[in-house]
Amino acid sequence: NSRLADADPEVAAAVDAELRRQQTTLEMIASENFAPQSVLEAQGSALTNKYAEGYPGRRYYGGCEHVDVVEQLALDRVKDLFGAAYANVQPHSGAQANAAAMFALLKPGDTIMGLDLAHGGHLTHGMRINFSGKLYNVVPYHVSETDHRVDMDEVARLARENKPQMIVAGWSAYPRHLDFAAFRAIADEVGAYLMVDMAHFAGLVAAGLHPNPVPHAHVVTTTTHKTLGGPRGGVILSADPELTKKFNSAVFPGQQGGPLEHVIAGKAVGFKMAASDEFRDRQTRTVEGAGLIARRLQADDATQAGVQLVSGGTDVHLVLVDLRHSQLDGQQAEDRLHEIGITVNRNAVPNDPRPPMVTSGLRIGTSALATRGFGKTEFTEVADIIAEALQPTFDDTRSKSLRARVEKLAADKPLYPNL
Ligand code: PLP
Repeated sequence: NSRLADADPEVAAAVDAELRRQQTTLEMIASENFAPQSVLEAQGSALTNKYAEGYPGRRYYGGCEHVDVVEQLALDRVKDLFGAAYANVQPHSGAQANAAAMFALLKPGDTIMGLDLAHGGHLTHGMRINFSGKLYNVVPYHVSETDHRVDMDEVARLARENKPQMIVAGWSAYPRHLDFAAFRAIADEVGAYLMVDMAHFAGLVAAGLHPNPVPHAHVVTTTTHKTLGGPRGGVILSADPELTKKFNSAVFPGQQGGPLEHVIAGKAVGFKMAASDEFRDRQTRTVEGAGLIARRLQADDATQAGVQLVSGGTDVHLVLVDLRHSQLDGQQAEDRLHEIGITVNRNAVPNDPRPPMVTSGLRIGTSALATRGFGKTEFTEVADIIAEALQPTFDDTRSKSLRARVEKLAADKPLYPNL
């Protein structure tokens, strides 16, 4: 029964140090968020011990009466949240949700179309050495060179030429909405399934700030830890109850063994939270914050420093900074922000001349800070700090003063004050 600090001081020290890092810096990685303490508690509960292969009411193990309650709550809540007829809350991650959804609807060797990784797509949408690129014949589509929006004419042309069995719509680094109805029309024309991976923008959908893909797609997958702000994990949703059996058996026993019921408890808590007015307010601040950063990075001083934005702005929780004309590459810009206490990730921009480990871009997200309570005032200050940090005049003195401004913001909006 010993506590972590006594049982394993080395792990405890690293866990404490990570908590302090999260509390004292500004987290702006677009795929991250802060799960509430209630979710951390659910994940740290005795449910971690329970085997529950199968689904509520149909398990292969005894003693599942309480985890059945938890999993059913998660299922009912997520279906309500997104208007789905079917849900599976067992995928351990977003990647596994995607693997199971593809496994359910495709055969090895089938053709899939997905947004090119270098244009904002995800590994699981057909990257060469991912399962999706190895199992399926991948035809990537792209964003247009002029406006950086997904080129729907190209999607239609490639679909007609290649007759895919599945079209995947969704992204990891793209600052705009997708036209789900247009994707579905193309999928229907060529007899393909439409899968939407809403991992990044699910929280915005739940809050009614982004179109909901569920009515348009055959299957929708998501993570639960990005804008949605719950525990790390995946979910599969569908508006089509006919597909239930295929997806359930693709998750278990197709991809996974025992579900992580402690994480599913965290998912249930997260879905309840996502239906609240407080959550909607938070997502509104998230999108407004990204808009403020986008506008600040398009002011004259930033433009003169070679800072541009992919697609010229944002409709979502992230901005993609294009540094192709800046003296800084993605790695240098990421390091510079890290130095002043802002955590972001470098990211390729469409047609990036630099290699993937360096890149010419930054992906900057506002979800985690909105969860921390940031609103217009704080995001205006953050935007200014970032814009100043990307200036050629950056030096040690500026670094210190920007770091102090970051520390003040972090202190004014404490994170996990009870931990
Ligand atoms: N799908 C998209 C669009 C993502 O951006 C990500 C993660 O970044 C995933 C799936 C994978 O999620 P996970 O890291 O939980 O496997």
